[in-house]
Parts: sequence; structure tokens; C-alpha cells
Amino acid sequence: FVRWPFNATQRKKLNWVQLAGHKGHFKAADEGSILKKFSENEMECFEKLRDDALLPFVPGYHGVVEKDGESFLHMTDLLATFDLPNVMDCKMGVRTYLEEELVRARERPKPREDLYKKMVEVDRDGPTPQEHSQRGVTKPRYMQWRESMSSTNTLGFRIEGIKKDDGSCRTDFKKTRSKQDVIQVFKDFVGGDLGLIVRLSDMRIRVKPSSLFFFLQVIGSSLLFIHNNTGNAQIWIIDFGKTTALPEGQTLQHDVPWQEGNREDGYLWGLDNLMHTLKSVVEE
Ligand code: ATP
Ligand code: MG
Ligand code: MG
Repeated sequence: FVRWPFNATQRKKLNWVQLAGHKGHFKAADEGSILKKFSENEMECFEKLRDDALLPFVPGYHGVVEKDGESFLHMTDLLATFDLPNVMDCKMGVRTYLEEELVRARERPKPREDLYKKMVEVDRDGPTPQEHSQRGVTKPRYMQWRESMSSTNTLGFRIEGIKKDDGSCRTDFKKTRSKQDVIQVFKDFVGGDLGLIVRLSDMRIRVKPSSLFFFLQVIGSSLLFIHNNTGNAQIWIIDFGKTTALPEGQTLQHDVPWQEGNREDGYLWGLDNLMHTLKSVVEE
């Protein structure tokens, strides 16, 4: 039970929010930093980004640490400098799984009942007759369904979750798809804060010379929006768990449609749509 006034540690705990992913994948660390369950992909991305144009938009990376027999990536807690901020996680791109996952699921399908149940909870008519009878859907199938229900396929980004400065938290955006609906959610989140546009434009400029968009397919990565009522507005690139090197010699355009085999991620197209959304919200 926490009493007012909170000390710094208590405030940090109350402040920390995880808008996506498994709850067990994160641990608190020393003042101002957190631990995320180790992944090879993510570590390699952090290392590639050490001297990259986008470095100012990526959480500080402090190496791999062992804790209780498990490996973690040690990174800066982006919320540590805020008191009760508004936080939003937007997952970027037109697809959220790797082509290799699709191929694997086709060759050796592993229907999962947990994903079937999650699908039915949102849409009874989501599963095909076959999926209904086996009470299971494969992971890529679930992810493709999530993409088609949300704005991933139509806008190249989707809202995963939002925590507001009044403490309220929402992650029920699975069916937020239309431009109109997305704009409505953004309007409520942004509240006229122009700082977010400035920060996003700055990021957009640095994306072109970044090695992130030259050697990699950026899959399942998010932009974390953080702002408060004192004009502190930040946007960060997070989650490189599925951001993977392209085969030697291949590069992507990042703004053309994905077709199986071309590995396009639609990141830059999504970024432009995000920019338009943000502009239309504050210009009204
Ligand atoms: P998924 O792949 O399902 O999206 P994940 O396990 O890869 O999840 P992340 O997406 O990296 O995890 O992070 C989950 C959430 O944790 C984010 O939405 C954000 O709310 C919070 N988070 C992640 N990294 C940071 C950070 N450096 N500082 C503050 N909050 C963070
Ligand atoms: Mg994520
Ligand atoms: Mg992830």
C-alpha cells in the first residue's frame, strides 16, 4: 500500500507502464533503466545503431546483463524523467511477422488454442470453418488477422496501447482501423501538443541516412510517444526483436506494398501516414 507523498522509487513504479508484450519480459533495474529479456536480433540492432543517424531516437543501450540465471538487454527507462506522462505505443509497418515464420507455419502448421480463443473473443467469425473445428490458429495467421482488423494493412501502423496522465490505460485497440477512428484516438492522446510533430519530422529526416533502413527489414518495431502537460514531447523507436538483416545485397524501399518474397516492411509509408494523422489532429 503506497501513501502520498511518494518517494522517487515508488513514483517510478507507479509511472512504469508496459503497453505491449509479455509482462514477464521486463524487469526494473538501477535508477532510470530497465531490463528486457535478451534477444539476439535486438542486441545486434542496438549495436548497429551505436553510431547511426537515428541514435538520438533510440533508448540508451547499456549492454547485456545476467540476472537470476537469465540474460537481459539493459536500456534506459524512457519514462524515468516524467511524472505522470501520456504514453502511446504505435506498432509500425504493413506486416508484423517475418516471411520465414509464414513459410514455417505452412510447412509445419502448429495451430494454437490460445490464439484461437483470442481471435474468437474479438470476432466470432474470425476463424475459418476448419479453424473452428480444430479450435486452433497458427501464429502468422493470428498476426495477419490482427493486421487486417487494425490499421496495419491500411495505414502502415496501428495503435497498441495508451496510458493517459489521469492514470487510465487502454490496450483494446484491436479493431481500430479506419482513418477516422485512428484520428479520434490520436486527438484524445495528443491534445494539441505540437512538440510531437516537431519530433516526428526530425526523426523522418534522419531515417534516410540510417543504416536501420539500409541493411534491415524493420518488423514489429514501435514508436513510443511520450508527452506531458509541461511541453515535454518525445518520440522513441523501440522493440527490435524482429528487426532482421536482409540477405546480402538486398535493399528495401520501405514504402511499397509487401508481397511474399520482396520482404518489404512498409515502415516509411506508415511513417508518412502517421505524420499526416498527427498533422490533421493538431491543425483542426
Ligand atoms: P511485442 O513484441 O509484443 O510488442 P516486446 O516484448 O517486444 O513486445 P516491447 O514492445 O519492446 O516488448 O515493449 C513493450 C512495452 O514496454 C512498450 O509498449 C512500452 O510501453 C514499454 N517499454 C519498452 N521499452 C521501454 C523503454 N526503454 N522505456 C520505457 N518503456 C518501455
Ligand atoms: Mg513491441
Ligand atoms: Mg517485440
